[in-house]
Amino acid sequence: MTEKIRVALIGNPNVGKTSVFNAITGLRQHVGNWPGVTVEKKTGKTVHKETELEIIDLPGTYSLAAFSKDEIIARDYIIDESPDVVVQVVDATNLERNLYLTTQLMELGPKLVIALNMSDLVQAKGDRIEANKLEDLLEVPVIRTVGSQGEGITNLLEAIVLVANKSKSYDIELTYGKEIEDKIAELQKQLQQDKELVAKYPSRWFSIKLLEGDDNAQEKLAVSSVADTIRKKLETMDIERLESHIADHRYRNISTVVSQVCNFSKRKMTSSEMIDRVVTHKVLSIPVFLTMLWAAFEVTFSFATPFMNIIDLGFGWLAGYVGSIITIPWLSSLIADGVIAGVGSVLIFLPNIMLLFFMLALLEDSGYMARAAFIMDKPMSKIGLHGKSFIPMLMGFGCNVPAIMATRTIEDKRDRLVTILITPFSSCGARLPVYVLLAGAFFGKSAGSVIFALYALGIIVAILSAKLLRGTVLRGEASPFIMELPPYRLPTLKNSFMQMCERGVIYLRKAGGIILVGVVSVWLLAAIPAPGTNGVFASEDIYGTTDSLIGYLGKILDPLVSPLGFDWRIAVALIFGFVAKEIVVGSMGTLYGAGEDEERLSEILTAGAMSPLAALGLMVFTLLYVPCIACIGVIKRETGSWKWTAFQAVYGTGIAWLFAFIIYQVGSRIGFLT
Ligand code: GDP
Ligand code: MG
Repeated sequence: MTEKIRVALIGNPNVGKTSVFNAITGLRQHVGNWPGVTVEKKTGKTVHKETELEIIDLPGTYSLAAFSKDEIIARDYIIDESPDVVVQVVDATNLERNLYLTTQLMELGPKLVIALNMSDLVQAKGDRIEANKLEDLLEVPVIRTVGSQGEGITNLLEAIVLVANKSKSYDIELTYGKEIEDKIAELQKQLQQDKELVAKYPSRWFSIKLLEGDDNAQEKLAVSSVADTIRKKLETMDIERLESHIADHRYRNISTVVSQVCNFSKRKMTSSEMIDRVVTHKVLSIPVFLTMLWAAFEVTFSFATPFMNIIDLGFGWLAGYVGSIITIPWLSSLIADGVIAGVGSVLIFLPNIMLLFFMLALLEDSGYMARAAFIMDKPMSKIGLHGKSFIPMLMGFGCNVPAIMATRTIEDKRDRLVTILITPFSSCGARLPVYVLLAGAFFGKSAGSVIFALYALGIIVAILSAKLLRGTVLRGEASPFIMELPPYRLPTLKNSFMQMCERGVIYLRKAGGIILVGVVSVWLLAAIPAPGTNGVFASEDIYGTTDSLIGYLGKILDPLVSPLGFDWRIAVALIFGFVAKEIVVGSMGTLYGAGEDEERLSEILTAGAMSPLAALGLMVFTLLYVPCIACIGVIKRETGSWKWTAFQAVYGTGIAWLFAFIIYQVGSRIGFLT
């Protein structure tokens, strides 16, 4: 044996990398962990014609951007350990997506061999990939393999040894057009002044990474003598725009290559593919998508209304009945105005929430939700998010709590964090009653449009916040779309029904516990006389007035909310809204002395308690300010960070205040809605 070749295997997840690794190494493997992280590190050995090969299995990765630990491990390994040959295992049935990693590897510059794996599946479909042509275009050996059968492995080893003995495996490089090439050249020139740096990192690759706003490259630059000069140069550039140009160029190049080497047979389309023709069509997809959403919401709201009316009537009757049979005034008030009215105001949304989740479950089970994520990927990537982020934002319209839990499907940590932080701006079902009350009372016929505008505002604020976060503390390009589109299935009613009940139970638990406590606390605070007054506990003349404890507290907050046109009662209702937003309307009823009678509350409000402008501000405030306790709890759990949880709460409340302030102040100056 004369020499030893070190070979690194790299590839997207699920392309058959482990199968190829096992086929090469047989039983001669060693499994450990990468230093400092719990990601599996596998190494193995083999001998091919007198040459000893040491194979290392890098973590599965879609790209070499530095978003995840896996990507950084793979990239640092190639840079720091400079293996003799890198073998990219490619899923031939998904060439276009896999070549993205290839383009990134070629920039980094290691000697490369491509294993065109799963080639049996390509053949089975009747498609053809011209490996020779691909080899010519990329200047990289391309070997067909079937990892699971061990086919093509000898050829692969042969190619590896050949490439290892060459001085260089390819000359071509991907170019990015004059504007970006000029910038690359400019940075390269600077970087070359630091000999140590360019000895370690290819200067072209390093420049491209800097232009892409790559954090890891920035860190590596920090210790260099040219760091300051380069940083100044970068500051003058619009990195975000360059980054998307670079990605565009990569994708365009890849699709040119793919169109030259792939021959897809004219086989019969499966029904899934036929549906996808329409559903993911360039032009048709959006109207189809909007129609689906509209149908889901329409069904939800129209089916829910009769149930809501029944619940409403039931609780109204119950409150009246209990009020009449209990003769102790304070107890009667506690049960009727506190407990029954409070629980009623929560239960009334149960039909809405259950139906919405039923519809979402149908969409999810049918396979459409994955398409929706796919369709939304392009627009979402404009705000720096993944198509998958759209689903939580959509679910947020039902309830933010499960929506935030749904972000678990997003692999990239930063994508996920941004999604969690903006999901509370999706106006959940609990905020709706505030809109219904106020829009109904103040805007009459245009109530529908006002409510629609609020939902839209939530989305706009979410988008702008995502852009803001992506441009500052959570910089980075959206990770490429990599979700599998499952075949369409007929959703089973049973499954959707179960999901619906599950959500219903979660909601009821919240209602039974936290919300009940909240409602009773409001009642208590409204019934206890304020210090320094001598009213009677729970008597009608102090209940919810400034002579009650809650009024006393509200007065303290008055200076904070009066610039928004709210009075102390609103401040108090909003604080209780933190317990659960469902309580806002209920506590306004209590505080304005209307009980659970919403019609009376509207009358009181429109009769001068509040201006239409302040009402508009209050709706916007309710939309944007800190989400409920349950939601904050889940944000903490999912982000694992009090810092980000506090950020969401403070940020949301801050812009809520700002928006309400602007609406009220500007509106009253120009005489709008006063
Ligand atoms: P990894 O995630 O990249 O390590 O992929 P694995 O080696 O675990 O393979 C994923 C799945 O694809 C397994 O079920 C393999 O049996 C299967 N597989 C791997 N290579 C091939 C191949 O060339 N052809 C076919 N049909 N299946 C393969
Ligand atoms: Mg594997």
